[in-house]
Amino acid sequence: MKRTLEQRLKDGPVICGEGYLFDLERRGYLKAGSFVPEVALEAPEALKQTYRDFMKAGSDVVLAFTYNANREKMRLIGKEELLEPLNRAAVRIAKEVAQEHPTEEALVAGNISNTNLFDPADPASKELVRGMFAEMIGWCKEEGVDFVNGETFYYYEEAKIALEEIQKQGLEAVITLGLLDEYELRDGYSVEEACRLLEEQGALVVGMNCFRGPATMQPYVGKIRDACEGYVGALPVPYRTTEENPTFFSLPDGGCSCHPPLETPYPTALDPLMCNRYELAQWAEQAYKSGVNYFGLCCGAYPSMLREVAETVGREAVNSKFSPDTKNNYNSIHNHV
Ligand SMILES: [Zn+2]
Repeated sequence: MKRTLEQRLKDGPVICGEGYLFDLERRGYLKAGSFVPEVALEAPEALKQTYRDFMKAGSDVVLAFTYNANREKMRLIGKEELLEPLNRAAVRIAKEVAQEHPTEEALVAGNISNTNLFDPADPASKELVRGMFAEMIGWCKEEGVDFVNGETFYYYEEAKIALEEIQKQGLEAVITLGLLDEYELRDGYSVEEACRLLEEQGALVVGMNCFRGPATMQPYVGKIRDACEGYVGALPVPYRTTEENPTFFSLPDGGCSCHPPLETPYPTALDPLMCNRYELAQWAEQAYKSGVNYFGLCCGAYPSMLREVAETVGREAVNSKFSPDTKNNYNSIHNHV
């Protein structure tokens, strides 16, 4: 017996693990810079284990790792012929892992995301983006996903096109927006207004993901909660973003003792700027109390962080048996060496 996403949302908080891009880069299977998820074809076992680790950390959803695996990106790296096999493989592997769940089969979600092509002033770009989404969602549908997550949109209109294409295939949609170092989306909509419109048009879950850490995302999540009646999602990046530097793109590292190759710690030197799991738990509690229904973490997250979030909102993960035992003296580890 496998409940649908909607049934699970009715029953309580739903957890969705994300952050495969950074996690697989950290594990050594993905190239920072182009950030294209060729791993589904090049190292399927590595992707499988990553999916598995996040699911065991509490994710109810195995989100197919197809972020950036769109026609534009694949053409840019000269591998357009791999587009369809890559998308199909990412979903198939996700399905295999979802079926391994020991208590209730996990949901499998397709994934489409913001493109660099979308231009609000250019109708032709919108048709191009629509076509890219349509083909990816078509493969998701054929491979049998439970729903599709359209994510990280910083134009309302691009999110709307994603929603329309998901609905054309008869699938449920989770639509999450990414807010850059600005107070509103690039086409002038506030996130709460955009979410309200997307909800009105039939998205099952609306909310935010990526770019911002808990501290600079949650204030907007609260506004979305006030503006919307249905289910709200929040999936921040696990970094200590501030009012001055609200996204991880601009976050500085005052404690760095060398000269990394890029001007900013993003994307490969962010490690010392991470929230610890207790800070993430504090956020999860706040988000839960504010009425969020769909929880997760985005780029940078690793499984134990997600488990902490899941447990904070009252869920038990497969790997909760390995959660820290705070009653035992941690120093005892040294006694075994
Ligand atoms: Zn992200």
